[in-house]
Amino acid sequence: MSATVNALLREDLRDFAGYKSARSEALAGSVWLNANESAWANGSDADGRLRRYPQPQPEALCARLATLYDVAPAQLLVGRGSDEGIDLLLRAFCMPGRGAIVTAPPVFGMYAVCARLHGAKIVEVPLREAEAGLCADLPAIGDAALASAASLLFLCSPGNPSGELLELDAIAALAQRLRGRCLVIVDEAYIEYADSPSATRLLEQHDNIAVLRTLSKAHALAAARVGCVLGNPQLIAALRRVQAPYPLPQPVVDAALAALAPSALALTRSRMAAVREARMRLADGLRMLPQVRRVYPSAGNFLLVRFADADAAFAALLSAGVVVRDMRAMAQLGDALRITVGSMEECRRVLAALETLRMEAAA
Ligand SMILES: *Cc1c(COP(=O)(O)O)cnc(C)c1O
Repeated sequence: MSATVNALLREDLRDFAGYKSARSEALAGSVWLNANESAWANGSDADGRLRRYPQPQPEALCARLATLYDVAPAQLLVGRGSDEGIDLLLRAFCMPGRGAIVTAPPVFGMYAVCARLHGAKIVEVPLREAEAGLCADLPAIGDAALASAASLLFLCSPGNPSGELLELDAIAALAQRLRGRCLVIVDEAYIEYADSPSATRLLEQHDNIAVLRTLSKAHALAAARVGCVLGNPQLIAALRRVQAPYPLPQPVVDAALAALAPSALALTRSRMAAVREARMRLADGLRMLPQVRRVYPSAGNFLLVRFADADAAFAALLSAGVVVRDMRAMAQLGDALRITVGSMEECRRVLAALETLRMEAAA
């Protein structure tokens, strides 16, 4: 039994069973007349893959993902990107209009968006500028979670946009301190680029940790919308009751299974290594440019860069046809751009565009 899930699940949802779909009952038969589906395939659907409702949690895909992430199938929920996982966590563990979450900005915007839509309060503990980079202050985050009685706190590791990789020991210590009081959500959208272990290895010891993983980034499947929540089985079961009956369309399930076949996976792994190499070269190149003030260390597939004149850098890149993420509207990042690590050729385009800036300054 998970003390944390029992303590933190929304009181008004404790006896809520969710929607019982025709596909959720374990029945056997050869004539299926329980879901009002058509007896015939659509004329465009040659093999009839689309005629019936899909499995709520497609068994083959869940098994493949559980192997990939090294968890048991009961510890995994698959949904429409990690974005859906964030939303489900809010809906299951935060009272609308009353609950609170803790975030550490500047960070991925969806935690705050979901909280806002849900009427939950957002308690912010800003990242600290340090020698090592832009760093999350885990003790302060723990203090804020206790002081605000937040039921969820979101850590992002590697951080978007900070690039910071959190130590598993530090995450474990925070979870230990908040046991029974707050869920620690670790968003690992970019962990494949970090070359270091996932927080999933903390799940056995800590029933108040959940991990978000996605096929959108390193697996190059952003358009398919496939992401997972990994956590203890009771937490997963609670999220299932809140989720839509058939979250994953069959073509998406097929695409994800194909992407996780051994040959596709081998190619994905070689690309992760290529990105780490390109990231190092791009960072070195950027640090040579006089208009670059700081390139933060990054464990993701992007670099956060401060410029002497971020306006001019953004414009120079744009006029060379290179679109990067403008971070200037974010607190603490008024002079920063976030640049995705693309192919080697794309990295060269970035450096070449910024070189023109240097020449203009000299002229
Ligand atoms: C890109 C990103 C995601 C991905 O979300 P999906 O819905 O799985 O595409 C999640 N978290 C962070 C921090 C991201 O940057």
